[in-house]
Amino acid sequence: MLVMKFGGTSVGSAQAIRDVLGIVRAHVERQPVVVVSAHSGVTNMLVELAQKAPRGEADVGPVVERHRVVLHDLGLPLDLHEPLVRELRDLVRGMGLVGEASPRATDYLLSFGERMAARTIAAAFSKAGFAATAVDAFDAGLLTDSNFGRARPLPDDGRIARNLAAVAGVPIVTGYIAKDRAGNITTLGRNGSDYSASLFGAALRAQEIQIWTDVDGLMTADPRIVPDARPIPTMSLDEASELAYYGGKLHPATIQPAMEQRIPVRVLNTKQPRAPGTVILPEYEEADVVVRSIAFKKGIHLVNLVTPRMLKQPGYLARVFAACAAHEVDVDLVATSEVSVTMTVDQPDHLEALRGELSKLGEVTLEGGHSIVSVVGQGIAKATDVPGRVFAALADEGVRVRVISQGAIKVNIAFVVADADAPRAVRALHRRFFAS
Ligand code: ASP
Ligand code: MG
Repeated sequence: MLVMKFGGTSVGSAQAIRDVLGIVRAHVERQPVVVVSAHSGVTNMLVELAQKAPRGEADVGPVVERHRVVLHDLGLPLDLHEPLVRELRDLVRGMGLVGEASPRATDYLLSFGERMAARTIAAAFSKAGFAATAVDAFDAGLLTDSNFGRARPLPDDGRIARNLAAVAGVPIVTGYIAKDRAGNITTLGRNGSDYSASLFGAALRAQEIQIWTDVDGLMTADPRIVPDARPIPTMSLDEASELAYYGGKLHPATIQPAMEQRIPVRVLNTKQPRAPGTVILPEYEEADVVVRSIAFKKGIHLVNLVTPRMLKQPGYLARVFAACAAHEVDVDLVATSEVSVTMTVDQPDHLEALRGELSKLGEVTLEGGHSIVSVVGQGIAKATDVPGRVFAALADEGVRVRVISQGAIKVNIAFVVADADAPRAVRALHRRFFAS
């Protein structure tokens, strides 16, 4: 059994959907379960509707039209989404009446993109003589907590496999959405369909999870920054989970369910279906490869805390992190010395409130405008010369490094530089590690 996930661009037009049918058909003997995103652009339109709805200014017309064009081009009935469109209009009107877009109502609104796309795609497949049924993820049994906007899955007890086995033809399941125990629709966070695919793959004990997208798999660096970046044929799940945080090619949580069930993940290009893409294997090492990829992420904030009180104070860091947890600030890198702590955070939300709380523990400064650069590779922990080569390359380039993080068992070295220096740092490192 195979899970095949197709992203927004891969299902963004009638032609794209026909191409997807060709790809799914070619794998039919592997009993595919298909997971789909909304048509490209639709979720952004819905986000805009959620912003305008409380003021009574939301117009659902463009969203309806975007879907009608695809239906029309596929020769499908234009009223296919009538019940959903009525529900969408009612919801938007309701949000206007109460004058608010609660996180719960917003997730409900955002769910329409995937729900309509799955129905269009299933209808297109069926019309072409390929039996398929649209399934809303929550009807398949995907349950989450009630953390609207970034809901986390609740354990599966086998219901997902049972529900999907009962579906006629190939199930076309909505990515991105689920329900909480009270029956409210939730979303897994933007680009969450990859995560959905991985959750379904784990629940089905799939042989493989395929993420079909619009790039040739994962690369040695972002090709927009490093023109001679190369595709990576194979890497380990450990490496991929590091890269997913930075790369933006996979939703960062995608790797975890696959890792738990040891399921390979393959990233493939819908426009080049024969290209090998990247295979991410549970266990994978290549004797002569130390560094696999150079990734970076912009828009990082530094939270610095300086205090002589940390000296010989058991529990001091516990208090620092308790404050972060209380303010729901998600910390990524941490560097500590005897008298200071620096943490990186990729969301500006709640930082001022956190500053207030941390001020009780020491002197706090916040700095925006930074990037984390990460040199990822399974061989890094074993090799002796990687830090030396990394920092020599940065020194030659005149890049100032602000924070450094390398865990004892980690597959990467990460460090923080000013946003303006990040592309230069990435290019210098790519030259150092990948120049042929
Ligand atoms: N449609 C959702 C989004 O644009 C989920 C996804 O595409 O993965 O964020
Ligand atoms: Mg996407």
